[in-house]
Amino acid sequence: MLALQIHEVGSLGLVNTPKPELRPHGLLVRVAASGICGTDPHILHGLYPANLPLIPGHEYAGVVEAVGDGIDGFAPGDHVAVDPNIVCGVCDFCRRGKVHLCKNLVALGVNIPGGFAEFCLVPVSQAYKIPKSLPLAHAALAEPVACCLRGVDLSGIVSGDVVLIFGAGPMGAIILQLARMQGASHVIVVDPQERRRKRASALGASWTIDPGKQDAVQAVRDQYPDGVNVVFDCSGNIAAVRQTLQAVMRGGTVMLYGVCHKDANLEVNPFWVNDNEITIRGSYNNPNTMARALDLLVSGRLDAGAVVTHRIPLEKGLEAFQLNGGEECLKVMVEP
Ligand SMILES: [Zn+2]
Ligand SMILES: [Zn+2]
Repeated sequence: MLALQIHEVGSLGLVNTPKPELRPHGLLVRVAASGICGTDPHILHGLYPANLPLIPGHEYAGVVEAVGDGIDGFAPGDHVAVDPNIVCGVCDFCRRGKVHLCKNLVALGVNIPGGFAEFCLVPVSQAYKIPKSLPLAHAALAEPVACCLRGVDLSGIVSGDVVLIFGAGPMGAIILQLARMQGASHVIVVDPQERRRKRASALGASWTIDPGKQDAVQAVRDQYPDGVNVVFDCSGNIAAVRQTLQAVMRGGTVMLYGVCHKDANLEVNPFWVNDNEITIRGSYNNPNTMARALDLLVSGRLDAGAVVTHRIPLEKGLEAFQLNGGEECLKVMVEP
């Protein structure tokens, strides 16, 4: 079968590799669409730990080709979305309900072969059966939507809150939609790229800020002198992260959602955090949010079509990786 493989750090290419063998409790899935995540180029460039050589791709959906022994409830032809994060269930974190922090976490497309291939072996525990009415290129968004749901849950947004988002890439575009569903009175979006700001406006941002033209914090403070209730960084840019702290109001929450460079540091004044009762928190992975993400996609409440901007055949996977992150795209789907 055809697959995209990271051979070693910095080297990505198309390979012909044997189709995975069906195993007990596994589904052989014919991949229909697999999204490029910001983590994939990080893996390629050695900035995120992974097992190489690797077929990456952890945001995907497809059609069941064959069903392993010991599985009930799935049949060839079923459409499935995949939760790539396989937890052990027996470590202390798992047993305390923090499965996403599992010590023995193994992820499809990070540690074992993932979705940038014609076929993938998916443990049945990771497969979600979905209605055929949901386009598979939209179902492949389930994992990023589930991660964003986790972030929005942790942010504690309540109806009437003003929410500020730095970064209008795919995650920013999803969090914007979820914040509005949560009842935010206004969502303000900061992004240097005009096309991304326009997309954010189309998705319901109250207004957008070009940080190249005006100071984002000043622009927000002009409108809201006390700051805003919840600030998300979805940019992974340390300069933007510093600004999140300057824009949050007393009693507010800063969500560090974007993935910054692992050596980037942030200086925080503990007196200010205490005196203003500021919450600064991280959000990692998608614990128990996949089913909710899929319901939002199936119901159409979440506009997947606005997030999936490109669909590229697997044979052109290298071009898809080059395109990814550009101004013209949000989520790029690779389609075997
Ligand atoms: Zn991802
Ligand atoms: Zn565990």
